[in-house]
Amino acid sequence: MSQRQFKLHGGGIANVPPPRDVRDQVAAGRAAVPSVSFRYPEATVSGQATVWRDESGVDVVSPFPQAGGNGMRCTCGKFSSGGRCEHIGKALHSLGDAYGAVPTGDTALRPGVSMAEVRRERTSDTAYDAPRAPLERMNYSRIQNLRAQRQDTHKEGLFEKQRRGEPINTPSVKPPKDNEGRAVAWPTTFEREGKGGANSDRPTDLHDIADVQYRIRAALFARTRTHYSVLRDKDGGMRITIPKARRAKDGTIPFAERARLADTLGIPAHHSRANGVYIPADTSWRHEMLSRSYGDTPPPIRAARYTVA
Ligand SMILES: [Zn+2]
Repeated sequence: MSQRQFKLHGGGIANVPPPRDVRDQVAAGRAAVPSVSFRYPEATVSGQATVWRDESGVDVVSPFPQAGGNGMRCTCGKFSSGGRCEHIGKALHSLGDAYGAVPTGDTALRPGVSMAEVRRERTSDTAYDAPRAPLERMNYSRIQNLRAQRQDTHKEGLFEKQRRGEPINTPSVKPPKDNEGRAVAWPTTFEREGKGGANSDRPTDLHDIADVQYRIRAALFARTRTHYSVLRDKDGGMRITIPKARRAKDGTIPFAERARLADTLGIPAHHSRANGVYIPADTSWRHEMLSRSYGDTPPPIRAARYTVA
């Protein structure tokens, strides 16, 4: 696998294989063992991570040699005395973001081991950075996944309620963020000048829904040579789906197509549903999904998140 250099927040530098190469292997059912290095101002993490898809379809990334790769090491004192440190944790989270995988601090997890087996044998989880309270007899990545799924279902329900004109509590909003986790203003235009790819020579007004639809479609086609449909609802939301001819008899998207779309966009598998990938009526969501359509992951702007207490 080739390596690419990325600037890290706080002045560090990461050298990792491009997300696409890793995701391709993982999607093909193989474990990927990318060689990685993260140079932070105060320490350097290097070695091999392991990325694979577990039996429930969740992509997982582990820093431990038990998962199959050589494992990740750090130059700091905490790591040399205890084998775990916050730098490994930080690097692992960056890898999770880049490769669309859930970081795990569970040394028992490795490709081919069924979750049931692990659960029978273990009574607690260990984090990659520090000892924590036992996380019940449940896998950490599965908890994260369930949590995300529940929140997602909840959010979709809210948008649907709003569409039907039913009253909802005002959601609290976490504003859009940049790559370094800082809140940024709601984007109004999308630009990726000079990066190549369909239509990248011009900006798109994120309020111009027709142009956003057009550009997502063009970007996805340019990358995958596969046609996708981008449908809009009357409230400005959009849905990335596949043309009728490729849908199942009942109109739903077959599982393999859902997985392929999730992979292409670099989003968790459960965000790609039987009726497509939903994009809320919000310019930050349009920005993030445009970036993802071009394969720019992690996206330079993270969409706003909504929660209702
Ligand atoms: Zn360290």
